[in-house]
Parts: sequence; C-alpha cells; structure tokens
Amino acid sequence: MLHKNYSLKGLNTFRINIAAKEFAEFSQVNDLAELTATPQKLLILGGGSNLLFTKDFNGRVLKNNLKGIELVSEDADHVYIKAGAGESWHKLVMYCIHHNFAGMENLALIPGYVGASPMQNIGAYGVEVKQVFSALEAFHIKDQALVKFNEGDCGFGYRESVFKNKYKDQFVILNVTYRLKKIPVFNISYGAISIELEKMNVSALTIAAIAEAVIRIRSNKLPDPSVIGNAGSFFKNPEVSADKYNSLKKAYPNIVGYTLSNGDVKLAAGWLIEQTGWKGQRIGDAGSHKDQALVLVNLGNATGSEIFKLSERIVVDVKQKFDVILEREVNIY
Ligand code: FAD
Ligand code: NAP
Repeated sequence: MLHKNYSLKGLNTFRINIAAKEFAEFSQVNDLAELTATPQKLLILGGGSNLLFTKDFNGRVLKNNLKGIELVSEDADHVYIKAGAGESWHKLVMYCIHHNFAGMENLALIPGYVGASPMQNIGAYGVEVKQVFSALEAFHIKDQALVKFNEGDCGFGYRESVFKNKYKDQFVILNVTYRLKKIPVFNISYGAISIELEKMNVSALTIAAIAEAVIRIRSNKLPDPSVIGNAGSFFKNPEVSADKYNSLKKAYPNIVGYTLSNGDVKLAAGWLIEQTGWKGQRIGDAGSHKDQALVLVNLGNATGSEIFKLSERIVVDVKQKFDVILEREVNIY
C-alpha cells in the first residue's frame, strides 16, 4: 500500500520528524518491479540507524521487510547462512551464536538490518562484515534485474562499499550470504573485550562469551536510540600519515592513534572531538553524547538540520585545532 505524506519519525533512530512524499513497505522481491517503476527519487530504508534526515524526503521511501534465515550450504570448515535483507542484524548474530557458527560475535548489538550490513561494511571491536561476507543478491532498479555480488565486487573498505559510493541508490539489496566458521578464531584484540571478559569471570573463551561481553560494553557505553535519538558514530575515524601523526603526537602526547597495516595511523575521532570541548555539549536539543563525543544525539526535538549544523561546527573546530578533516559516516538525506 502506498502512503502519502508519511511521517518517518518512528523509522529513524535519530527520531527526526520528517515526512516522505510517498512510503511503502515490501516483503516480497516480486513487489519491487512495480514499486521502483517511478520517476520519483527512491530511498531504501532498513532500520534507519545510519541516516540523518535534514528535510522532508521528496520522493518514495521503500521499507525493506524481506525475511528469512537459512543454512544454504557447508564445507569442511564453514557454513553458509543466507539472510533476508529485512532481518534484524542482531537477531542474525544471535542465531549464529546459538548454532555455534563463529565470526560475527564481535558485531553483536549493532542496530539495523542485514541489508545494510554490506552498505558500509559494518564493523566493531576489530571485526568487519567483509570477514564473514560471501555474496549478496540485489535488484538493479534501472535495469529491473537481479544481480549477484561476490566479495570482490563490493569494494569493501573502512565503513565503505560500492553501495555507499559508486552504486549509491542504484540497487536494492535483497539478501546476504555469510560464511561462518565451524571452529572459532577468537578476536579479543580490543582491550575493552578482555577487560569485560575478566569481569565476567569467563574461564573458557566461547563465541557466546565474547558476544555477551560486547553486549555489556555497548549497553553501558552507547546511548540506546529508543531513549536518546542517535545513529551511532557520526564521523569516521580519520586516517593520517605516520609523519602527520608524529607531529600531532609532539603537540598532543595523549593523542589516541592506531597504526594500520599500510603504515598510516587511524586517529580516534571521539578523542579529537573531546579535545575541542564538544563532548557532552549541546546547541538546543542537538548534542554530542556525554560518554562518547563521536555520537551526536537528539536530546528532545532537534531537527535534522540542527544536528547537521552541530556536525559542521565540530568539523570546523577539529580542522582548526588538529588540521584533520572529519568525514561523516552517517548518510545525510
Ligand atoms: P539504514 O539506516 O536504514 O540505511 C543506511 C543506508 O543504507 C541508507 O543509505 C539506505 O538507503 C541504505 N540501505 C539500507 N538497506 C538497504 C538495502 N536493503 N538495499 C539498498 N540500500 C539499503 N555501525 C557500525 O558499522 N558499527 C557499529 O558498531 C555501529 N554501532 C551503532 C550503534 C548505535 C547505537 C547506532 C544507532 C548505530 C550504530 N551503527 C554502527 C550504525 C548502523 O547501525 C549500521 O550502519 C547499520 O548497518 C545500519 O542499518 P540500517 O538497516 O538501520 O540502515
Ligand atoms: P573505543 O573503544 O572508545 O575506541 C575508540 C576508537 O579507537 C574506536 O573507534 C576504534 O576504532 C579505535 N580502537 C580502539 N581499540 C583499538 C584497537 N585495539 N585496535 C585498533 N583500533 C582500536 O570505541 P567505542 O566508541 O566504544 O566503539 C567500540 C567499537 O564499536 C569500535 O570498533 C567502533 O567502531 C564500534 N562502534 C561503531 C559505531 C558506528 O556507528 N559506526 C557506533 C558505536 C561503536 P574503530 O572504530 O575503527 O574500531
């Protein structure tokens, strides 16, 4: 059913009250040919946890409700799990934990749907989705055709893929197949996980214990979008050359940076923002979270453009203080 002038307030985790000119949900691939055959601008919506609406959407929003989780094949070391793009990501992670399929445990409790997981190659605590990605099927809107993407076709990078850039808004991701390990390889390289596991008194490491540790850390540290509107990290962590990092380190000995395999250094954007004084500050109802400056929050009735303006102020201040440019991770509409 096609709705007109439809409020999306309950469908984006920033809880921005804007209207879509047209809105429909789809739960079958067959519905897409008709729903996408329109001159209107289209937006495919999942859980709305990685976008910021700065104005009404003057086009057609299609909410993905394609469901299903199934084991499609296996080999000696792996199982292949195919999930509908409209499944909850966390539900899929817990399904894998329950069946002892390893690889997604560090990605527990990330909000949103399966279909968005390849969009920005979701990542947390040292794991990215590309490490468990096998293939996806997508609907090409212009050609009205089904297309298969293997890992090499997706251009995965740090919070990036071809779907966020080159092919933005051209495909509807329908389902994703993940390759999980039968025998786990644990990744507890992020200090917070081992500290939490110690607190939990875990004697034998399991994927369930890692997922539980991640869930506890995230629940304590990150604002729950059902209580405080937010879309997680608003900016990416900037990557700078080793020379740039060394000169910053001289001026700011406490700067937080992690050396990457290519020799560049990833700076913690949250730390940079904190140093500019924005942590826990607000302009009206648009703010930077008190515990994690990187997360911009809607503290009541902020509009999307107020949150965007706050992000502009932060970009300017970080540039001025560190000569580092912050890039937004959240999709702006
Ligand atoms: P949406 O916000 O609905 O959509 C995001 C973009 O993807 C839009 O451009 C949309 O058009 C497009 N899109 C969505 N589904 C499809 C589809 N099926 N086909 C084509 N295009 C599509 N992200 C991380 O990477 N790591 C984290 O640890 C993390 N933690 C978070 C914590 C919190 C509290 C919050 C609120 C967010 C966090 N995020 C994190 C961001 C977000 O949850 C993820 O990026 C998530 O994958 C977005 O999924 P979604 O379904 O909500 O996407
Ligand atoms: P944190 O632990 O306070 O760490 C700050 C930053 O330092 C992180 O962004 C992380 O980079 C980096 N970092 C920490 N330990 C590292 C290590 N051992 N090796 C390399 N880099 C390291 O971060 P946080 O905000 O609480 O988030 C924890 C994890 O959840 C991070 O991986 C973060 O990306 C993820 N997260 C993502 C979102 C989102 O919306 N994208 C929201 C919340 C949390 P990375 O970000 O590159 O991992």
